[in-house]
Amino acid sequence: MATTRSTCPYCGVGCGVLIDTDGAHITGVRGDPEHPANHGRLCTKGSTLHLTATPAVLQQARLLQPRWRAGRQGPGTPLAWDAALDQAATRLADIAQAHGPDALGFYVSGQLLTEDYYVFNKLAKGLLGTNNIDTNSRLCMSSAVAGYKATLGADAPPACYEDVDHADCLFIAGSNTAWAHPVLYRRIEQARAARPGQRMVVVDPRRTDTAEQADLHLAIQPGTDVMLFNGMLHLMLWEGWTDNAYIAAHTTGFDALKARVRDCTPAEVARVCGIAEADLLTATRWFAGRDADGQPTGGRTLSLYCQGLNQSSSGTDKNAALINLHLATGQIGRPGAGPFSLTGQPNAMGGREVGGLANLLSAHRDLANPDHRAEVAAFWGVPSVPATPGKTAVELFEAAADGAVRALWIACTNPAQSMPDQATVRRALERAEFVVVQEAFGTTATARYADLLLPATTWAEKTGTVTNSERRISRVRPALPAPGEARHDWVIATQLAQRLEARLRPGLPTLFPYDTANADAGAEAIWNEHRETTRGRDLDITGLSWATLDRHGPQQWPCPEPTSPAPAGQPVVGAARLYTDGVFPTSDGRARFAAVAWRPVAEPRSARYPFSLTTGRLRDQWHGMSRTGTLGRLFAHVPEPCVQVHPQDLERRRLHDGQLVQVRSARGSVVLPVQASTSVAPTQAFIAMHWGSEYLGGRSADGQPLAGVNALTPPAFCPGSKQPELKHTAVRIDPVDLP
Ligand code: SF4
Repeated sequence: MATTRSTCPYCGVGCGVLIDTDGAHITGVRGDPEHPANHGRLCTKGSTLHLTATPAVLQQARLLQPRWRAGRQGPGTPLAWDAALDQAATRLADIAQAHGPDALGFYVSGQLLTEDYYVFNKLAKGLLGTNNIDTNSRLCMSSAVAGYKATLGADAPPACYEDVDHADCLFIAGSNTAWAHPVLYRRIEQARAARPGQRMVVVDPRRTDTAEQADLHLAIQPGTDVMLFNGMLHLMLWEGWTDNAYIAAHTTGFDALKARVRDCTPAEVARVCGIAEADLLTATRWFAGRDADGQPTGGRTLSLYCQGLNQSSSGTDKNAALINLHLATGQIGRPGAGPFSLTGQPNAMGGREVGGLANLLSAHRDLANPDHRAEVAAFWGVPSVPATPGKTAVELFEAAADGAVRALWIACTNPAQSMPDQATVRRALERAEFVVVQEAFGTTATARYADLLLPATTWAEKTGTVTNSERRISRVRPALPAPGEARHDWVIATQLAQRLEARLRPGLPTLFPYDTANADAGAEAIWNEHRETTRGRDLDITGLSWATLDRHGPQQWPCPEPTSPAPAGQPVVGAARLYTDGVFPTSDGRARFAAVAWRPVAEPRSARYPFSLTTGRLRDQWHGMSRTGTLGRLFAHVPEPCVQVHPQDLERRRLHDGQLVQVRSARGSVVLPVQASTSVAPTQAFIAMHWGSEYLGGRSADGQPLAGVNALTPPAFCPGSKQPELKHTAVRIDPVDLP
C-alpha cells in the first residue's frame, strides 16, 4: 500500500486528494485534510475518482498508443512514437513553410498542468512563430481576466476562500456554486451556520440549488447583469452609500461612471431585469453594508461569480460592472470583502500565469505590448515573438473552416462537443489538412476527426502543478506509471519541438532542454523556467520551488523569493489577499472604474425563436463526460438529458412532461425529452452541457450530425474577452412527431 498526495483534476476549487494504491491499482481516494482548499472534504466527483481509473476504464476508454487514421476512418493503425512525431513535425513544418506559421493552430486545455501549458506556448509563440494558440479556458474565464485587467490593473483575484468565513454578505452572481464548486459551497454552508446574520444574495435567471438557499434570489432576465449592477450603483449614489474616502484615495474614473448610471433608475432596472424594485433596494443595502435605516454596519461583502457573468457577449462589462460596486463601497482588500471570480477548470489559473491564451504572454504579459514581447523573446532566446494577434477559440475554428488555418493540434480538450456553433467547428475539423488529437481518452467526438491520435497521461499519472481559484499552487503527483505508451503532455510537446528545431534552427542548442526521460526532473525544470519569467511581476512566484511546495504544501501567489533567508522553521507564506494597502498595479496605483453600459444579448428571443436557452453544469458530471461518463453511479443524480421548461410554457404549447421535443436554433437542433421545471422562468429553457452524441442527437441546419447541445449555441463573443456567449441562445421547442 502507498499513499500519494495530489490534486483533484475536476474543478477550480482545487481540492487536495490522497490517492491510495496497492502498487498496481488505485484502491481509493480521500480528501487531503491538510490541503487549505478542502480540509479533507471531497464532492461526489472527487470522491469517486478512483473508480474512473480502473483497469476496465483503461481498456475501454483510454487511448494507449499512437494511432494513424488513414482517411480519418476507424480507430486507426498503431504507430511507433518516433514515427508519429516525425510525421507530425514534417506535416507542421511543411504547412508552415508553404503557407506561413499562422496556418497552424493549437487548441489546448485548462486541464493541462502549468508545465504542459508553458511548453506548448513556447513551442507555438517562441519556436514556430505563431500566436495561434488558445485554450478551452477561453470558454470559461477570459471575461474575468479582461474584467480584472480593465479595473484593477492585473489578472489577479484579490480574495481567497477564507473570506467566505468573514463575509457578512455573500453576493453570488452567475454561479450555481452548490453544483459547480461543491466543496467551496460546503464552506459557505458552514459559514452561514456559524454566522446566522450572514446574508446570501444570488443573481441568476434560474432558481438553481444555490438560489434556492439564498436569502434573496434576483432572478434577472438573461444577460441583464450590467443593468442590475449599474442600477445598484445608482441606488448607492442616491442613498449616499458609497465610500467616498476610498473612491477619492484609490480610484479614478468615478465621474464618468456616475454619468453612465444616471439613467439606471430602479424603475428602469425593474423593467429590464424583471425584478422587483424592493428586491433591488434590499440587495443594494446588503452589498453596501447598511442596516434597515441605511446606517453603516461595517459589514463586508464578498462577490463570487462564474460563467453566468463570463460566458456572455458582454462578459467583460459584466465583470467590470460588479467590480465597480466593490470599488465604490471600498469592499476590497480586507478580510471578507472583494470581487472573487471562480475558475471552472482545475488549472485555468495556471494557464493564465504562463500566458496560455492567444493574447497573452508569460507571467501576465500582454502580446500587444512590444516591451513584453521583447522580454519574453529574450528570455526564451528567440529573435522575436510575433506581433500578429493570435486567433482566439472561436476565431481559430472559424479560420480553419475558411481554410486560413490548415493544421490543428488539439490537446486534452474536445472542441467537437464543447465549442459553440458546432456546425462551424465540424467544417473546420473536416477542412483542416492535418488534425492531431493528443488525449487520454480516445473516445471523444473530436478524436473522430483526427489524422493522428497521440496518447497522453492524465490524473494520477502526471507530475507538475496547478493553480486554483484563490491563486493557490498545488502539486500534482503520480500514483501510477503511465499506461500503455501514453506520454505526458509536456513530453509530447517537447519531443515535437525538438524535431521541429532540427528543421527550423538546425545546429543551434535546443530551446527545450527538458529531461523527457525523467518526468519529475523535466517538469521541475520547466517549473523553474516559468518561475523565473515571473520575477518582479504581479504574480511573482520566485519563492516557490518544488522543494518549498513539498515542504510547506500548497501556496498562494504572489510569493517572491525572500530578500534575506527566512528564519529556520518559518513557513513560506504567499499573499492571501491583494490590494490590502489600496495600491493597484496600474500606472498611478489607482483602480479604474469602468463606465460600462448594458446592452442586450447577441441573439434576442424572437417570434420564430421564442425561448432563451441557457446551458450549464450538472452536479455529478464533468465537461463532455470523458471521465465521469465511465462511472454508472454518477448518473444517479441526473440519469438522462432533458430540456427544462416552465410548466406554463408546456401548457401553452400543449406539451407534456417527458415528451420528446426538438429544440432548434438558427444553427441546428437537438432532440430530447422535455421536463417541466419551475427552476426556469417562463420563456426560458435549460439543457445541461455534458451530453454528447451518445445521448443527444445533434444536427446542423443542413442535417449534418453534431455532438450535443452546442449544435444550437451561437458564435457571438464578447469583444473585450473573446469569450463566447454560451449562456444565451434563442431557440424554439416543438414536439417530435413519432411514427
Ligand atoms: Fe474536485 Fe471540485 Fe469536487 Fe473539489 S469541489 S473534489 S476540486 S470536483
